[in-house]
Amino acid sequence: MGDKTTKHSPIHIMFFPFMGHGHMIPMVDMAKLFASKGVKTTILTTPLNAPFIFKTIETSKTNSNINIQTIKFPSVEAGLPDGCENFDSIPSPELVPVFFKSIELLQEGFEQQLSLQHPDCVVSDMFFTWTTVSSAKFDIPRIVFYGFSFFAMCAYECVRLYKPYENVSSDSESFVIPSLPGEIKMTRTQVADYLKVSVWLDSLTKFREVEEKSYGVVFNSFYELEKDYADYYRKVIGRRAWHIGPLSLCNIDKEQKKYRGKEASIDEHEWQNWLDRKEANSVVYVSFGTVVNFPDSHLKEIALGLEASGQPFIWVVKKSKNDGEEWLPEGFEKRIEGKGLIIRGWAPQVLILEHEAIGAFMTHCGWNSTLEGVAAGVPFITWPVSADQFYNERLVVDVLKTGVPVGVKRWCLFGDMDDSIKWGTVEKNVRKILAKDEEAEERRNNAKELSRLARKAVEEGGSSDLDLDAFIVEFGSLRG
Ligand code: UDP
Repeated sequence: MGDKTTKHSPIHIMFFPFMGHGHMIPMVDMAKLFASKGVKTTILTTPLNAPFIFKTIETSKTNSNINIQTIKFPSVEAGLPDGCENFDSIPSPELVPVFFKSIELLQEGFEQQLSLQHPDCVVSDMFFTWTTVSSAKFDIPRIVFYGFSFFAMCAYECVRLYKPYENVSSDSESFVIPSLPGEIKMTRTQVADYLKVSVWLDSLTKFREVEEKSYGVVFNSFYELEKDYADYYRKVIGRRAWHIGPLSLCNIDKEQKKYRGKEASIDEHEWQNWLDRKEANSVVYVSFGTVVNFPDSHLKEIALGLEASGQPFIWVVKKSKNDGEEWLPEGFEKRIEGKGLIIRGWAPQVLILEHEAIGAFMTHCGWNSTLEGVAAGVPFITWPVSADQFYNERLVVDVLKTGVPVGVKRWCLFGDMDDSIKWGTVEKNVRKILAKDEEAEERRNNAKELSRLARKAVEEGGSSDLDLDAFIVEFGSLRG
């Protein structure tokens, strides 16, 4: 990918990610990608989030084009504990609405930065709805970043508009999502609560209104992955959109991949040597992202299911040694020695997924994880919990045909999670995805082909590379 020069180059883009790792990681990758094209980039964040970004930028070859600016996060003023500046560090679910309220207080600092820096455009997170108004004050176009797939964006919109869940007589009866390409079926309880509960629906409608007033939307996706839905989004929903992913692929060497997000909780040699001793396509990697927090009873079922499958696994759990071991069945670690590796804390996910021993990814279907799995060419066991994850499950299982669902029936943001998945189901699906039969082979082949297409999309002249160039040219020309 060569440097892009336009008449008024370099253009300057300000990136403003929401303070949660699932939102920061792709946007920091995006800044790195634009910087690799010679674009001047500024990442706006808060003091306690800056170190996560410094580390990953340090490893980037084009870091001289990337500038990090901080604005104060008013944790205490908003009613959060001092130092709580990241979604990850919210101590209890009751404080989640307080955190969302606190991000409203960032507007003043954001506007100060706009007046100081006057970038050519701002790419800001979906949650910062007010950035559209702020940017307009300075005559700067705002681009929205949801971090969702085209598929999920279209499905949300179709469900919001047509309310198909109102036409079924029970929670278990499925409906086809109206107007959405393909025969995509869901049930009422899998639809996000925020599409059904009026106060949340109002917020979602607000997102849509803001999106309409913004200049466009940028996607971490690639055209070949979800053509019908990218076309639907642009032509039927009618938005200006760019697809420039998979963003994780902008990290070329090992050091860059290693420092995405947080510092790994495991020594590199330990997981690497462990995987090197395993056969190709034999290990299931299990991780549920940065937000899902399963209760101990769920974790026990997962542990028992993995053990019963007899397959090797790497399991990332958001626990530390200080949390005790009650979440594990008695004697578990001793029994699985050599067969299973538990990472407590943070795993270098992209590096692990790319290892040839990884044969499947058990995931909550967060879009970053899904796309990282696609780029790595692995089939999925899908275990969605909330947000856009049930839509991503449908994309993987029904459209891409690279996954098997564990069968979660109920969407749940916090609290009372669907606890119907027991160890037997975990065992069955691990065996199924790693099987040597025709069905499993087909899923593996589909996954390998998608990985090839993903890599091609970001190469010079690939669909994502061209859209990235188009974006840069467009904002260069807007300068007049
Ligand atoms: N991630 C990681 N190591 C971990 C957990 C998560 O590198 O131990 C990264 C993962 O690679 C992905 C992001 O964190 O880029 C999680 O985003 P996703 O959309 O999958 O899920 P979320 O956390 O937003 O639910």
